[in-house]
Amino acid sequence: MPLKLAIVGRPNVGKSTLFNRLAGAKLAIVDATPGVTRDRKHAKGRLGDLDLELIDTAGFEDVHDSSLEARMREQTEAAIAEADVILFLIDARAGITPLDEHFASLLRRTDKPVILAANKCEGSAGNAGVYESFSLGLGDPLAISAEEGDGLSDLFQALVQAVPDAETDEAPLGDKPIKLAIIGRPNAGKSTLVNALLGEDRMLTGPEAGITRDAISAFFDWGGQRYELVDTAGVRRKAKVEGKLEQLSVMDSIRSIRFGQVCALVMDQAEAFEKQDLVLADLISREGRALIFVLAKWDQAKDGNARFKELKERLEDALPQLSGSPLVRVSALGGQGLEKLMAAVSEAHRDWNARVKTPDLNRWLRHAIEKHPPPAVHGRPIKPRYIAQIKSRPPTFVLMSSRGTELPEHYRRYLINGIRDAFKLGGAAIRLIVRESRNPYADESAER
Ligand code: GDP
Ligand code: GDP
Repeated sequence: MPLKLAIVGRPNVGKSTLFNRLAGAKLAIVDATPGVTRDRKHAKGRLGDLDLELIDTAGFEDVHDSSLEARMREQTEAAIAEADVILFLIDARAGITPLDEHFASLLRRTDKPVILAANKCEGSAGNAGVYESFSLGLGDPLAISAEEGDGLSDLFQALVQAVPDAETDEAPLGDKPIKLAIIGRPNAGKSTLVNALLGEDRMLTGPEAGITRDAISAFFDWGGQRYELVDTAGVRRKAKVEGKLEQLSVMDSIRSIRFGQVCALVMDQAEAFEKQDLVLADLISREGRALIFVLAKWDQAKDGNARFKELKERLEDALPQLSGSPLVRVSALGGQGLEKLMAAVSEAHRDWNARVKTPDLNRWLRHAIEKHPPPAVHGRPIKPRYIAQIKSRPPTFVLMSSRGTELPEHYRRYLINGIRDAFKLGGAAIRLIVRESRNPYADESAER
């Protein structure tokens, strides 16, 4: 869902220029004569990682009679009604005019977020206008230049802060079942676990398996939360390959992974973290799902504590980037460990949906940089400036940094692990996108 952004302001402040810049195309006509843009225009735009639907308010014909005010009010109100956020532009070079004040009084009445931007701020000719615009009672102005593209990273930050849910379309927790996918190699113990969770023999395991042919979605409640489980293809295929050596089907696994919000990767404790498990873990994390490692058939572990320690170390060695994910022991046959498993599922789902407040993130960022500054590249320092979470599911952050494209991968990892630890995001697959702070919509991201 794009963020609907209405650009409003009196004629000639630079609305169309900004609109064009954000839309990346010359869609609205720009002209020095006030009032050339006649109708409300819509266009798709982009700023940083935000998808925008831009609403440009009509220019108001150059009529200075009483009808201007009425027309202006009408258009502005229509745009406000449509928008998620309103960007109010003034011309910093011209200073505040009575018409700007009129707009401000309209905007002070809306309960939608309003961002005030003083345009034409390249050079110093706009400074006075910026200070003047504080008086409009619409918060601190951003100093921008639509023509030069200055101040757009500030605009991006203001948008992210104004609409923290930008780009997210999920329903609040609790109303919908948590989708749980049970993934794993053949014979890992998946069906037995599914049966234990469902509490009845919906899917049969063991030698007489083969009854479940089609994809089955099963629902169950646990601790007041509803879950939807999908029969993994691996379980279904049992029917056909009974007696033969079963192969892991990566395609089938991907299908299940995509279904899940939380993926439980089930491994027989006796052979956990072998190559195929690592492949599955990597797929789950690349799909951005919350991951839980399940050590199944724990009743068969000889020296439980030593074995657990050993497996934990193997996880840290083989998948350092996923070593924060929970590692849960279960014995589905005896019904042991299910409470812990489901607590981990619910927690992972919560982390996956988490939102971290921008000021907390930036406070953390300052400490992280102080503790361990980014390396200089070609003798020039890289300066991370600002971080914001732009999405959840999985938690996705944008870091604005000078020379962001040169930020080394190991430092990006350091930041990701830091976010995970500081905000207790456990098993969630965290994404960090690094952008140049100077030009937020150049596509120079070092994604993932
Ligand atoms: P609108 O009527 O609000 O849509 O304003 P326009 O986008 O048509 O711009 C009006 C005039 O201001 C045009 O001559 C633009 O070139 C000029 N303009 C727009 N943005 C800037 C800017 O950032 N700096 C300067 N110096 N001029 C600008
Ligand atoms: P799937 O292929 O991953 O669905 O694996 P199954 O659930 O069919 O289990 C494979 C084999 O492991 C079966 O013979 C199960 O009885 C056995 N098994 C599953 N869970 C446990 C457990 O908790 N303890 C023990 N001892 N055996 C188990």
